[in-house]
Amino acid sequence: MEQHTGLPLQFKNTLEYAKYLDEKDHLKSFRDQFYIPLLHGKDAIYFTGNSLGLQPKTTQDYVLNELEDWANYGVEGHLNARNPWMYYHEMFTEPLTKITGALPTEVVAMNQLTVNLHLLLVSFYRPSKQRYKIICEAKAFPSDQYALESQVNLHGFKYEDAVIEIGPEPGEHNVKLKNILAAIDTHKDELALVIFGAVNYYNGQLYDMEAITKAAHAAGAYAGFDLAHAVGNIELKLHEWDVDFACWCSYKYLNSGPGGVAGVYIHEQHAQNTSMPRLAGWWGYPDETRFEMKKGFTPTPTAEGWQLSNAPILSMAAHKASLDIFDEAGMQHIAKKGKDLSSYLLYLLNDINSLSPEKYIEIITPSNENERGCQVSMLMLKDGKKIFETLKKESVIADWREPNVIRVAPVALYNRFEEVFRFYEIIRSIITAS
Ligand SMILES: *Cc1c(COP(=O)(O)O)cnc(C)c1O
Repeated sequence: MEQHTGLPLQFKNTLEYAKYLDEKDHLKSFRDQFYIPLLHGKDAIYFTGNSLGLQPKTTQDYVLNELEDWANYGVEGHLNARNPWMYYHEMFTEPLTKITGALPTEVVAMNQLTVNLHLLLVSFYRPSKQRYKIICEAKAFPSDQYALESQVNLHGFKYEDAVIEIGPEPGEHNVKLKNILAAIDTHKDELALVIFGAVNYYNGQLYDMEAITKAAHAAGAYAGFDLAHAVGNIELKLHEWDVDFACWCSYKYLNSGPGGVAGVYIHEQHAQNTSMPRLAGWWGYPDETRFEMKKGFTPTPTAEGWQLSNAPILSMAAHKASLDIFDEAGMQHIAKKGKDLSSYLLYLLNDINSLSPEKYIEIITPSNENERGCQVSMLMLKDGKKIFETLKKESVIADWREPNVIRVAPVALYNRFEEVFRFYEIIRSIITAS
């Protein structure tokens, strides 16, 4: 097994060993920068940072500063606030380039994820009678499926005909890259777009974005990714991989609060192309001349040219608080620790399966650390609900997906190896007692 690659020692299933891993973790002090929820009177083992990341302790101050400036300046805050609201989105350019591997002209924080997905599809899904098909993963997140369905319908196509979903082979849980590449090649004459959730929300599989992009381009199609479960979780090199476009939300691994402001990436070659089709709004107009309020839309020649509305400052303040922590910790280290946490968890879950002749848990997340981030999805073969309820009683916050999958995401910035071990101990005690 290669599950412990990246860690110097063989894993051990003891509390002492988990504590030892925590001790030598360079990111260990970051946990203190977050509020850990209480459950049944004690610190929760919070493994749902893939759903809603925890609140940094600095967030309230960042938001309060904007409330104060609004109180003190009113409309003058657009230019006179400590962080003038007119240029607020520019503060996110640099941190987002580090998190996504993009150039400064390629990223902007704006809107919400599904809204952004639609805006990008307006620009990058321009089907013709010949070229109208979309290749995506089977079991994409529902919002993404609905977005694709409504977009193909808008262009007069039917989902069943226009959208090709690539799923695992029968009896398997993960999609093979070769099957994705083969489908792209098969449909190369009719293909308009290839779009994947970079990390699948359900099974945690990380797709090879570079290979998929290369194949899409060879077929004459665009390649885009929904990074909801990838951003802040794994290292991204969007520009280097030549990805055409991507979008993400900030409330999962990016810890920027419920419904927080989202973001997009648009490759420079498209971002600078002011004739790229799009839906326009005044915030996409160059800021030097925006307030001349002239007729006729000219886009800013960067990703910012896709902005519609003036920025939601309060949610952006929370985003800033979190991205400052990412800057301090470094995306590379965060991604590395996330994989180490999940590697340790996978090792311990294998140990559980060796305890009884009957298998309790089938891991549906790839064991190869190049094909996952920190999330591990467990298909519960026996006593799933009972195990989940017991975990909850023991202050573990995990995620149950029907019919019988438990998703857990030990997150680099605030989870510990010790929590992974405690999680294992709880499940082990249920199984050995029954
Ligand atoms: C979380 C998630 C969403 C949610 O979309 P919102 O517009 O933020 O509500 C969409 N797509 C994927 C892949 C997700 O993981």
